[in-house]
Amino acid sequence: MNINTSKALFERAKDYIPGGVNSPVRAFKAVGGAPLFFVRAEGAYLYDEDGNAYIDMINSWGPMILGHANKEIEEAIIKAVIDSPSFGAPSRMEVELAELITDMVPSIEKVRMVNSGTEAAMSAIRLARGFTKRNKILKFEGCYHGHGDSFLIAAGSGAMTMGVPDSPGVTEGTAKDTLLVPFNDLNKVNEVAADNKGEIAAIVVEPVAGNMGCVLPEPGFLEGLRKRCDEDEIVLVFDEVMTGFRLATGGAQQVFNVRADITTLGKIIGGGMPVGAYGGRADMMDYVSPQGPVYQAGTLSGNPVAMAAGFAQLSRLNEHPELYEQLDKTTKMITKGYQKALKKRKLTYTINQIGSMFSLFFTHKKVINFETAKSCNTEEFGRYFRFMLARGVYLAPSQFESLFLSTEITKDEVNKIISSFEAFLDQSI
Ligand SMILES: *Cc1c(COP(=O)(O)O)cnc(C)c1O
Repeated sequence: MNINTSKALFERAKDYIPGGVNSPVRAFKAVGGAPLFFVRAEGAYLYDEDGNAYIDMINSWGPMILGHANKEIEEAIIKAVIDSPSFGAPSRMEVELAELITDMVPSIEKVRMVNSGTEAAMSAIRLARGFTKRNKILKFEGCYHGHGDSFLIAAGSGAMTMGVPDSPGVTEGTAKDTLLVPFNDLNKVNEVAADNKGEIAAIVVEPVAGNMGCVLPEPGFLEGLRKRCDEDEIVLVFDEVMTGFRLATGGAQQVFNVRADITTLGKIIGGGMPVGAYGGRADMMDYVSPQGPVYQAGTLSGNPVAMAAGFAQLSRLNEHPELYEQLDKTTKMITKGYQKALKKRKLTYTINQIGSMFSLFFTHKKVINFETAKSCNTEEFGRYFRFMLARGVYLAPSQFESLFLSTEITKDEVNKIISSFEAFLDQSI
């Protein structure tokens, strides 16, 4: 496969853009090789600068759930662009999208538009802190909530509950207000909550974790968080930037039947345009300015082009909930094909799947949290990634990311994905 044009562009990019990319994981650092540069995408396929086609298993990290270059979304975008890309003042589509979101996600009574998932998560915890007049937040190891300072905290070994900055530039003062607990460990949550009684503003969680690979909540985990928050008057924030509109019209909270106080949204909500949102209980959302004292603003928030794209995508999903069954079925065809291929070769790697999200973990352990995810053989993952790419299957370039299917992936693509995986296993044994 010739990827010379991509390679040349990457060399040029490195002279002018840090690391040659505008978001770190795109650089293929975890898997080796040079990142591909894309010119076009349609349906289930991406096309690179050298004219190679790839089945897309990431779909822009989630947003392109209806596949690429969806005609309805494109038409909505074009119409909005012609009417002017920005007003910096209210427009009708903001109201219609807000109504649609509150209709699709019952726990969201009011919603504020922002420009990214990062911004949504940062704003949600500012609101939780302002509303409760408390400083600390509790998050889970391996969960990603964008690159806001309070969230860039990793566990120091042993010191599980006191945050240490994960990146230079995050101050220790900020880090000490972030409490860390292993995902799925309800006992630890209760313990940490008891130790910090009256000080925790919010528990923030990805209801299905997608940023350490796909990790499902154990039965009772989300319910237990709801109970802890009710008893201690803590704001329960579900970060559904990834799972919102992906697992169901009402997100993971619909699937697991647990109500969040505040929900953060992103990715799918923008139909491929840069959009985020946070919303929830009306009494909390009314704390946001100009209604309330918690400040949050945005020059391009509620941008008419982005609103039009998001409205077109969400409307289609809302009107066709059967798409979620289709997505689940397609994904299970792949994971069952993988299981069968593994079994035939007496291999026992772990696969986690829910709806159109799944991960193959190169470990024999059950993956339930960051610790178990870290037991994976990342070199083997790198070989798998490069092998699939050379065969025209574009996976997430890291073991610690979920895959996200689109409705455009059909039986033909499924068969090609499975046969490529079998070929990988045969050459690696
Ligand atoms: C992607 C993601 C974010 C960050 O969203 P950006 O739009 O990249 O800023 C936050 N939370 C979760 C769960 C995500 O998956």
